[in-house]
Amino acid sequence: MTSVAVLGTGIMGSGMAHSLARAGLDVTVWNRSAGKARAVGLPVADDPASAVRNADVVVTMLFDHDSVAAVMAEALPAMRADAIWLQTSTVGIDESAKLAETAAKHGVSFVDAPVTGTRQPAENGQLTVLAAGRRDERLDPVLDAISAKVVWVGDRPGDGHRLKLVMNAWVLTVVAGTAQSIALAQALGLDPNTFLEMIAGGPLDSGYAQLKGKAMLSGDFTPAFPLSGAAKDAGLIKEAAAESGVDSDLASTLQGLFGRAGNPNDDMAAVIRALRVDQK
Ligand code: NAP
Repeated sequence: MTSVAVLGTGIMGSGMAHSLARAGLDVTVWNRSAGKARAVGLPVADDPASAVRNADVVVTMLFDHDSVAAVMAEALPAMRADAIWLQTSTVGIDESAKLAETAAKHGVSFVDAPVTGTRQPAENGQLTVLAAGRRDERLDPVLDAISAKVVWVGDRPGDGHRLKLVMNAWVLTVVAGTAQSIALAQALGLDPNTFLEMIAGGPLDSGYAQLKGKAMLSGDFTPAFPLSGAAKDAGLIKEAAAESGVDSDLASTLQGLFGRAGNPNDDMAAVIRALRVDQK
């Protein structure tokens, strides 16, 4: 039976751990705040090194590059030489390459594997994995358990992240654009539902605009994709745009909006708070 260590049991990591266990894999979890690890209901390790010691596959699902690098500095020396590190957190293109170098120094096989999909797809094993690195069939049980689809983007570490940032540039733009139209409708004295009704079913509609637009109207900001992650990803998109010669003004504006919309643990739909200037 494949043995998997999941490092990071936030919104995404806890759902992925459940999907792995449901598929019959032997799962051990670790999280910085132990309460969140215990809440998963699977065996909990006291520290990253104990979590990974017997694992065939180590999955990282932490916040950003720095948190992954810090946790793996503890875990890598304890990993088995034949173990594989599946790095699923969104860390950035250059940052992914840096993590791959660190893995290589420890003789560990590294796969860059950011995911698309949010809380519910993580719980249901329905994520899309954007993978890059050496394909190894020993990863199959893990990828089958967490995802509905795996896209092998390329061989270079960072290739998975290239596509991930392209995808998230779209997600953040749709959510901030929806917030702008709803805030504007309200400020102009219109019923903001009219906006969502106007686009429904037409070429300008999107499931995400409807989902997040309804959350903006109800004020239910239970996190699926927190503001903190949206602001962090906008920063990574800005960096990638600037480095590749694409104008980064839009990404910069998105970073500002998601970063100043209040409680960073609220869902990204709360970005509407940053657009209601006169209500601050
Ligand atoms: P989350 O619920 O905020 O979880 C973040 C995790 O990172 C928690 O386990 C947290 O530990 C840990 N962490 C943060 N800083 C740390 C540090 N310095 N040292 C050790 N652990 C640290 O976020 P999430 O939504 O699950 O996102 C996790 C990753 O998936 C992010 O890279 C995000 O961009 C990406 N992602 C998210 C979504 C989504 O829809 N939510 C979709 C695709 C990809 P504590 O519990 O101790 O704070």
